[in-house]
Amino acid sequence: MHELSIVMTIVELAERSAQQHQAPAVKQIDLEIGALAGVELSALRFVWPEGVKGSVLENAKRIIHQIPGKGRCEDCGGEFALAQHYTPCPNCGSFAKQIVSGNEMRVRSLVVEGIG
Ligand SMILES: [Zn+2]
Repeated sequence: MHELSIVMTIVELAERSAQQHQAPAVKQIDLEIGALAGVELSALRFVWPEGVKGSVLENAKRIIHQIPGKGRCEDCGGEFALAQHYTPCPNCGSFAKQIVSGNEMRVRSLVVEGIG
């Protein structure tokens, strides 16, 4: 499953970060996931417990920040909300646009447990 491989990537990042800080576990992880990133949040939540089992993230609090999609029209310069990649500009109907936000899929912050 696509979402499980995403969780495994996040686990890898967290393991590396915990190691750097010589921390036994992660207390909290904040994720940023854009509306256009192609990640099914319900599926991600569903596979999360299985994916983090036995890792530093096993007991971590997980917070997901959803980033709304936003595009900028290359023809009229207007900015608009973007629910999907193929939404045309609502002002002029153009499909030529830049994605301003919504492609994010990253770890925003990680709180590790202190030693001792
Ligand atoms: Zn436009």
